[in-house]
Amino acid sequence: MLDIKWIRNNQDQVREAAVQKGMDCPLEELLDVEEKKRQLQHRIDLLRAERNRATARIASYMAEKNRSEADALKEQVRSWNVSLAADEEELANYEQRFKELMLTVPNLFSPDTPEGATDQDNVVVKIVREPATFTFEPRDHLQIGEDLDILDIPRGVKVAGTRNYYLKGMGLYLHRAVQQLAIDLLTDRGFTVMDVPLMVREETLVNAAFFPAGKDQTYELQDENKWLVGTSEGPLVSYYANEIVDLSEGPIQLAAVSNCFRKEAGSAGRDVRGLYRVHQFAKVEQVIVCKNDPEMADLMMEQITRNAEDILDLLELPYRIVAVCAGDMGAKNYKQYDIETWMPSRGAYGETHSSSSLLDFQARRSGLRYRDQNGELRFCYTLNNTAVATPRILIPLLENHQQDDGSIYIPTALRPYMRGLAAITAK
Ligand code: AMP
Repeated sequence: MLDIKWIRNNQDQVREAAVQKGMDCPLEELLDVEEKKRQLQHRIDLLRAERNRATARIASYMAEKNRSEADALKEQVRSWNVSLAADEEELANYEQRFKELMLTVPNLFSPDTPEGATDQDNVVVKIVREPATFTFEPRDHLQIGEDLDILDIPRGVKVAGTRNYYLKGMGLYLHRAVQQLAIDLLTDRGFTVMDVPLMVREETLVNAAFFPAGKDQTYELQDENKWLVGTSEGPLVSYYANEIVDLSEGPIQLAAVSNCFRKEAGSAGRDVRGLYRVHQFAKVEQVIVCKNDPEMADLMMEQITRNAEDILDLLELPYRIVAVCAGDMGAKNYKQYDIETWMPSRGAYGETHSSSSLLDFQARRSGLRYRDQNGELRFCYTLNNTAVATPRILIPLLENHQQDDGSIYIPTALRPYMRGLAAITAK
């Protein structure tokens, strides 16, 4: 959420952000509603003050036994009350509409964000490692999973519908190993690692700026007024909602490991084969809460991106980083880098991580504040990035590390979490 005064004074920037991000933001209506709300509030305040003065005068008239003046004024107060009640109802309607409209305003994007409408316009800023080359016909992760009996998609579909899967044996170990590797790395780097609620209140997802836009992607728990999270970013950002946090010793670094549930509405027909786009996956997520300082935010962005890169280095995978263009960027993001890992079966890089800086967009919605060095209350800045998301990361892991004898090489860093195995082989 942006500040309404700032919006009023910088309308062109807001309009530009909405256009570039391809969002519908009825700015004129928002400003009109805010103006009317303000005028109405002023009128109500004046009338309330007048009524209070009249009520005091009625008391004096009564004390003086001046009944006729008291009765006349009572009549006047009654008529004011009627008009106040109507005004208050109208104000409540304006306030409700104002809240709804404020939620349609996107975050701005940073000046160094590439222009463009789709992921084709993202700009590659770094490439690490060459894609694997094979002296044999490489198999895709589905074939590998079936040959090694570690993945069963047909039964996943039988039991739970499309975009579902079973991981078996060493497939399960691999799934958990990448998560534990990420948790250990983040713990070593000072993160507080957490298990978080996955069924959350609607306001949690509004505060973290997933709602209202992302409602169609989210599973609702009927009769519970709760939603299944699509990422632990929501519960992590909301951990300190409506609190004043202490940032005097540096940024707060939180991480969670969680299952994530996504409807993938609008993805019909896209990535239907295999593990790329599924309804349920696991993710280790990093969230940073820091001071309202653009330089600090840039530094934190670098660090959370570095953490993800270090995990990919430990997994010995080829990847690249792209600066995400305005049109491909989430509405709540100010700046976004995606990390894409080489996936041989796609003959292309596929997104495996997404690093975002939001300035105070989420913090305003969440009431997340700190005191600066002058003791003034300010909204924090927040950032987030994937540390690892699985089973998507199993695609490059299985496909890049396949050997000519059909086995899968296990990177050294993963072995402690894989019962010491150096390779997964067929039984
Ligand atoms: P996001 O939270 O949307 O930024 O996504 C972070 C990461 O989660 C992506 O880069 C993917 O690795 C993974 N991911 C997102 N959606 C899915 C999905 N439907 N199926 C599997 N992995 C996903």
